[in-house]
Amino acid sequence: MWQCNSTGKPPSHESMLPLQLVYSSRYDLNLGEHVFPARKYRLIRDRLLAERFAEPADFVEPEAASDKDVLRVHDPGWVNRLKTGTLTEAEIVKLEIPYSLEMVDGFWLATGGTILASRNALHDRIGFNVGGGFHHAFARHGEGFCAIHDVAIAIRALQHERVIEKALVVDCDVHHGNGTAAIFAGDRSVLTLSLHQFNNYPSDKPPSVIDVDLADGVEDTEYLDRLNGALKVAISFAPDLLLYVAGADPYREDQLGGLALSMEGLKSRDQLVFETALGHSVPVAVVLAGGYARDTNDTVTIHCNTAKAAATALMQA
Ligand SMILES: [Zn+2]
Repeated sequence: MWQCNSTGKPPSHESMLPLQLVYSSRYDLNLGEHVFPARKYRLIRDRLLAERFAEPADFVEPEAASDKDVLRVHDPGWVNRLKTGTLTEAEIVKLEIPYSLEMVDGFWLATGGTILASRNALHDRIGFNVGGGFHHAFARHGEGFCAIHDVAIAIRALQHERVIEKALVVDCDVHHGNGTAAIFAGDRSVLTLSLHQFNNYPSDKPPSVIDVDLADGVEDTEYLDRLNGALKVAISFAPDLLLYVAGADPYREDQLGGLALSMEGLKSRDQLVFETALGHSVPVAVVLAGGYARDTNDTVTIHCNTAKAAATALMQA
């Protein structure tokens, strides 16, 4: 472990990345055999270390979000039922993951990670949480593998501290950001952009400020064109922070996605988001969200590529 200096940051040395990778071994939600590969977080860390892209000192462990943080977004009843194991059967079914206290702890910790990555973004221009992106959580219920909404909680925490006023959420997960849209509906301080496959979960899509509905089977060129157009509009909102929900599931081999992006197309997507944001002096906090490739190694590669694109964008900007 490093000694923190007066800025609270580790002392830099030449081989250190230009951004911190926020991560904990307890991000694993211990879901057992489940389509959501919660072990991917550990696999991403292992891969980035094995490839010598990162060193152990590049990873920082977050603190769990406080209940006070969580309650700025979520209904006290929902939070209480999650923490005390008193969800109804219907609520567990909607969540689509098995209930355990470890699972709840994992969500609180990953949410702390998104808060930390957001703070890091203001300092380093890009912050990176090797987790999070729970965009299907609503204020009063969870669904689609998402119990609490880390991105909304991080935005509210930083707004509460008055270090940001306006935030932009750029959601490139293949699934619509329904929780994000609902939580920030009517809030002029947060612009929500979701680029998603229209014919996919969730069937009910509360409107984001900007929704880009994509047809089944959309490939790299159309995807990147549509993203570029939407980003140009969204960045003119002049946000103080961009939250990038970098889902790996628009990939053509994804089991829960019906778009057809290539590995290269996904790299270009990341590059476009980072270059657009940094080109407008907007810091970016990255969260990972979904990824259900037939081969989990592909999901890991896509998420690792996002970290690499972030480092490259910082070095080139
Ligand atoms: Zn998804």
